[in-house]
This record gives sequence, C-alpha cells and structure tokens, in this order.
Amino acid sequence: MTLALGCIADDYTGASDLANTLTRAGLRTVQTIGVPSDDLALPEVDAVVVSLKSRSIEASQAVARSRAAEKWLRGRGASHILFKICSTFDSTDAGNIGPVMDALREDSGDSIVLVTPAFPETGRTVYQGNLFVGAVPLNESPLKDHPLNPMHDSNLVRVLARQSRTKVGLVDLATVARGPDAVRARLAELAAGDFGAAIIDAVFDGDLGTIGTVALDHRVSVGASGIGLGLARALVGSAKVRPEAASAAAGAPVGGPAACLAGSCSQATLQQIANAERSMAVLHLDPERIVTGKDEVRRALAWARDRVSEGPVLIASSATPDEVAALQSRHGRDAAGHAIEQAMADIAEGLVDDGVRRLVVAGGETSGAVVDRLRIPGFLVGAEIAAGVPVLRAVGASKGEMLLALKSGNFGGPQFFSDALALMR
Ligand code: ADP
Repeated sequence: MTLALGCIADDYTGASDLANTLTRAGLRTVQTIGVPSDDLALPEVDAVVVSLKSRSIEASQAVARSRAAEKWLRGRGASHILFKICSTFDSTDAGNIGPVMDALREDSGDSIVLVTPAFPETGRTVYQGNLFVGAVPLNESPLKDHPLNPMHDSNLVRVLARQSRTKVGLVDLATVARGPDAVRARLAELAAGDFGAAIIDAVFDGDLGTIGTVALDHRVSVGASGIGLGLARALVGSAKVRPEAASAAAGAPVGGPAACLAGSCSQATLQQIANAERSMAVLHLDPERIVTGKDEVRRALAWARDRVSEGPVLIASSATPDEVAALQSRHGRDAAGHAIEQAMADIAEGLVDDGVRRLVVAGGETSGAVVDRLRIPGFLVGAEIAAGVPVLRAVGASKGEMLLALKSGNFGGPQFFSDALALMR
C-alpha cells in the first residue's frame, strides 16, 4: 500500500480535526498517536496523520520528532507530507513552525514550500500574508493573550521569516485567483530569487483547491486543515484516490457490549447524561470517593458487569459547577482532575477486559487518559456522529477490534450518547 498523503500534526486535537476533514473529503484516513512502530499493520488507507505533541516543546526536539514521523510516512510511500499546524499559526520566534519546515524541506529536496493556515469555512483567512481570525487580524484576536505563544504580529511573512533559515515570500490572492499555473509561475520566480518558503493567501473556500493542486507538485507543504482539504480535493480530482465511502470501512460492526464514560462537566455533557438516563443504565460516581481510594472503581466495574450484557451502560463522574468547585477546594484542582481521569482510565481498562468493544468517552482530558491507558496506537476515522466527532476504529490495538467515540465536553447534540451508539454497531 502506498500512502497518497502523509501528515505530521503538531498536536492531538489538531490531528483529529485534520483526520476528520480528510475523511469527509473522501480520503480513508488513519490518525496515529505518536510515531507508530514499524510493524503497525495498517488497513487500506489513503492518508495517515501522525499526531505529535510538538507545538510548544523545544525546537530541536520538535524537529527530531517530526523527522521520525517523516521517516515513517516516507517509508509507507507518502510522496507528499503536510506539516499540520494550528490555523492561528501558534508559534514563537524560536519556532516551531520554521525549524520543522526547514528540516522537512531540506530532507525533501524541494526548493520552495507553500505555507498557509487559512481555512475559510472556520473564519481563518489570509490576505496579503496577514492572518485574520474572523473579522479581526490575528494580533487583535484572543491569540494575542495566549499563555504559551502570544501572537503579536499578523503578518505571517514576517512571523515565519523570524523562525526560519530561509527567505519567505508571498503568493497573493490575485495570483491565486488566476489559478494553478499562475501560482506555479510565481513560485518559480520566488525560488529563483532564493526564497525557500511562500505564504499563500486564501480567502475563499475555492482558493484551497488551487493551493492543493499546486502543493501536490511538491513533496512538503505546511498549513492547517484548510490546506489539508485542498490537498484532499486535488487527490480526489486527480483520481489518485477513489473517494467513495471513505468512512465505510471504519464503521463495520464489531458487536459486543457497549459502554459510555463521562468525565466532562460541561453544560452540554450534563444535559446529554440526563437524556441518556431514559435509554440506558446510568451510574453516577461519587467524586469524593474516587479521589480518596480505589473502591469506587471496583464498585463501578461490578455495577457494569451486572448490566452490560443487557444493553449499554453509562458511568459518569460529571458534576455541577458548584460540586466541582467544592471538590477542588478540598483536594486542589489538578489533584482532583488527575485522580478522576485516572479512575476513568481504570474503569475503561476494566470494561474492555470484561469484553466491552464499543466505548464512548465524553471529555477531552478524559479521552486522552483512556486512550493512553488502552494503548491504542491509532484510529481509522469513520462517519461523523456530530460535527467534529467521528466514529473511530482502533488500529493495531492489543485488545483487538474496537469502536470508540471521543468528544470534547461541549460537542454533540442533546442525545449524543444514543446518537453515538446508533453508529457504533
Ligand atoms: P472537557 O472536554 O469538558 O473539558 P475534560 O475531560 O477535558 O472535559 O476535563 C474535565 C476535567 O474535570 C477532568 O480533569 C476530569 O477528571 C475532571 N472532573 C470530572 N468530574 C469531576 C468532578 N465531579 N469534580 C471535579 N473534577 C471533575
């Protein structure tokens, strides 16, 4: 199998977003957690997104990890690699976008790399090299106060030039509007002038197709899910991949018992739990007992064991803001959160040991703890249950076939748990 597209994402949620975007555009896509082992057995896929946590680590480390991912992807035949960054270009003058781009460009032999975080459907547009977040320039958006990488300059040509060893040029919107050949001519001009990277404008959804088409002439590109969408459209348009039913294989039934875990305390999740009470057995954990010992985990597993063969169960630590605040004031915010995440991971592990093969998890941190504990190396992305929340099929998991749904607290409609289970047979 030869990958049509390899992606290296600098954080996990960005990787999920990209994998979901590629799947919706018709690419059979696997997202891996970290760089997979060489012997990971992949199903038939068009794209792999390797999720790293390299956005805010030291630049040399980010380069080393990205190169390890690059080596793995090239080893699977990926002719084009997209380095996936945040659509708000999260970085500092020390990196890590520039240093990783420089390294990937050097390895690829490309003379110039196309770069754009634009994703018009989510309000990220780039005009004359300036990034807009909705109606405001990046440096007036909430990103100006980001704790790790405050963005004080909206001009990405300048921002990237400060991080990179190469000269950075611009392909403006007027050129993009004239189509792929005009963009190619402009890139040739820049490359002849020793520019190694070009920020490319994109304001309209249709601009992404032009950018993707030209990017495919090269071995590396840099951007957010928008350029990923452009690449996917170009691949489908050039018949390098067959778009039908990208998500079908992911959703094939696995059978077996189903369980839901909720560690999110968001309004949306609290409402979803209340609605689930009507269609499944629900256990509300005692958060105080979780923080102070393992009994509550044992109680939950015994409760589930008695019921799970009859139908789906839901186990929730979720509580109202007042209850959360009270627990945090007794034990500290981090200690309480960590203890509950680990208890949810213990419960997930116990449920899977008891035969559960369909697992829905509500809460971003909670999902991370569960996936880490189950040591799942990757997921084939399936149909969307709700915007941004696909069905996931575990790939290479030691426990065998499994379907999962992992959602951030606020995602999903009021019937999220039953909506998820309806697509996870
Ligand atoms: P979300 O996606 O809604 O932010 P997360 O899982 O990322 O959900 O975060 C929820 C956090 O709240 C986790 O650290 C979880 O362990 C913690 N938590 C869950 N239940 C309670 C509770 N009853 N009291 C205090 N903290 C809780």
